[in-house]
Amino acid sequence: MSGAARVVLVTGGGRGIGAAVCRLAVEAGYRVAVNYASNEAAAAALVRALGEAGGEALAIKGDVGNEADILSMFEKVDRTFGRLDALVNNAGVVDQRARVDEMSGARLERMMRINVIGSMLCAREAVKRMSTSHGGKGGAIVNISSIAARIGGPGEYVDYAASKGAIDSFTIGLAREVAGEGIRVNAVSPGIVDTEIHASGGQPDRVERMRHVVPMQRAGTTEEVAAAILWLMSDGASYTTGANLEVSGGR
Ligand code: NAP
Repeated sequence: MSGAARVVLVTGGGRGIGAAVCRLAVEAGYRVAVNYASNEAAAAALVRALGEAGGEALAIKGDVGNEADILSMFEKVDRTFGRLDALVNNAGVVDQRARVDEMSGARLERMMRINVIGSMLCAREAVKRMSTSHGGKGGAIVNISSIAARIGGPGEYVDYAASKGAIDSFTIGLAREVAGEGIRVNAVSPGIVDTEIHASGGQPDRVERMRHVVPMQRAGTTEEVAAAILWLMSDGASYTTGANLEVSGGR
């Protein structure tokens, strides 16, 4: 692949929706930086598969809830690829099912630190590299939100829903802030997607239990969400910024 190929950094790219973004990005000709938090085996297997598919990919360990990790992740992208064209702010967590009157301060701080501040700090680093006002060539940022932002997650995870509400406001504000600097900023809001995130929140049966509330009567696949993300990254979306594309089966 040519050294001029576009470069995308996908946070939380080792598994789930992020991994599907990495696969489609390689198909579209991007070189891919695959960030992960702790599941090194999943990220390494993905990078191997991307290489076998003819792509160029690099796994980068780093917790987006930690600013020092974010700085060293972007420096690694600089050193390895020498450019950055797109950021997909995909890393995100849920927590155990709980009501607000049961949530600890530590839980809320973790939720906001990873889902909100992590995405904002990654966007900051991407803007420093891509903005034409910083000498960059422009680029695209796609933030992964959730339709939970408008449903609210009552009795389950209002904290998570609120973190995604923050992502929605951040998307609009940053999009307008850097629209004249060659950077487009958009969000994708998935509905229920079949990944391991539900089991990580103690609800391994959530997809099966909830699919009946979806007008399409099924969960989405990671590829269906990734396709929307890839479009927003692409030149086909050249006049689209500040948008929030719901990929939720009509829910
Ligand atoms: P997932 O299957 O649980 O995968 C999460 C990925 O994020 C993993 O690669 C994980 O790394 C990484 N990650 C978690 N915490 C991180 C941290 N602190 N720093 C860096 N990476 C971290 O999740 P998913 O379902 O694909 O979700 C991806 C995004 O879509 C999230 O923002 C989520 O909120 C959003 N979303 C998902 C759904 C759904 O139904 N699945 C619906 C709406 C929105 P390791 O592999 O190292 O653990």
